[in-house]
Amino acid sequence: MTPAEPKRKPLSLTRQILIAMAAGLAIGVLIKLTGPAPLAQRWLIDGIFLVGGKVFLAALKLLVVPLVFVSLVCGTASLDDIAKLGRVGGKTLGLYIATTAVAISLAIAVALLIAPGAGFELSTTASFQVQQAPPLSETFIAIFPTNPFKAMAEGNMLQVIVFSILFGLALCMTGDAGKRIGSAFEDLNTVVMKLVMMIMMTAPYGVFCLIAKVFAEQGLGAILPLVKYFGVVVLCLALHAGLAYPAMLKVLGGLSPLGFLKKARSPLLFAFSTASSNATLPVTLETAKDKMGVHNSIASFTIPLGATINMDGTAIMQGVATVFIAQAYGIDLGVNDYAMVVVTATLASIGTAGVPGVGLIMLAMVLKQVHLPVEGIGLIIGVDRLLDMMRTAVNTAGDLAVTCVVARSERQLDMKIFNADTRHAADVHLRKEFHGAIEASARQRERR
Ligand code: ASP
Repeated sequence: MTPAEPKRKPLSLTRQILIAMAAGLAIGVLIKLTGPAPLAQRWLIDGIFLVGGKVFLAALKLLVVPLVFVSLVCGTASLDDIAKLGRVGGKTLGLYIATTAVAISLAIAVALLIAPGAGFELSTTASFQVQQAPPLSETFIAIFPTNPFKAMAEGNMLQVIVFSILFGLALCMTGDAGKRIGSAFEDLNTVVMKLVMMIMMTAPYGVFCLIAKVFAEQGLGAILPLVKYFGVVVLCLALHAGLAYPAMLKVLGGLSPLGFLKKARSPLLFAFSTASSNATLPVTLETAKDKMGVHNSIASFTIPLGATINMDGTAIMQGVATVFIAQAYGIDLGVNDYAMVVVTATLASIGTAGVPGVGLIMLAMVLKQVHLPVEGIGLIIGVDRLLDMMRTAVNTAGDLAVTCVVARSERQLDMKIFNADTRHAADVHLRKEFHGAIEASARQRERR
């Protein structure tokens, strides 16, 4: 009898995405280097890559509103009391704002030290059509919806979040009717998560198209005149992700940064490929709950909120860009100006939508605040797409890190799942056990 052939393990989705990214990068760079032939331009860049990438992004975005609404209603409804919502909300907002302020302060300090804009040749640059960034007061007023359906139709995530929390709270307070609707929402949540899984299966193809198109069009040549600016942004992103998040996880949460990083791989790759925190949201949410062991009542609140308002990577770009533009135009900024940049960029990151390129538009608001020429954005626009991919990965890492810390402080983080290798089916079983146990204890409290 011949021994049975050892079964080959199927590649995990993260691996498949990594391979797709590498293939997309190789093919994109190859097309760029050989100078795109008209046929490659028509059939590949403007054909398969464009259509494949756009359809994939549309499919991801399609999930965002139903996912945020349903999961946030379930999450809020499962919080035991309003005091807990206030406590979790306070901690989450506090950490989101604090990490963003740290990120931008670090960016300004490093940029001042390296001086990426000193001696920059202004004449070699592209021009930028100045776009109006909204004033701060409007950004605040716009958080409150007048019509939830309009907010959903327009994909206005802050408004959707406000409505979902209010709706979830009302469910909590409505007794039997609230329980019935709540359990329907739980079922709906399971269906939406299934939809997420279905769309995720196409991710390797979508990621391949997105990456191939970016590199076939941009190549690496655009970076050369801006290599110092590019390098400083990348350095600050690496420092923030490699020092600030690990320190926060370890000191505030007692969590292993390495374990965190291993589990965060998928959402980080997604964020990099799509350059959109919003489009990455389904993967971030699934990772927080299923792989890191954060209970739904926390994750469904902190992750959508983070994808909408927490943008550390974007703030880093804005800090470095401000210093770069000031130096390129030979304008001196004082300490007060930089303090103003920290405050404005932190607030601007709250108003930045989690979609590609918006950080650059919000930069206009920061520049205006310290009277720098908004046209300066034209200097850096050429390399922004690549930086957008990297900063979006940092934005997403920040959402996950804060979520884990808040969950730990609320005893809603299952350490068995956080430390386990979640590729094994047994871990999924663990998760069910954990969530079951929390729900049972909530029921017990109710009975008492
Ligand atoms: N693309 C970023 C995000 O989605 C926002 C930006 O910086 O433009 O998080």
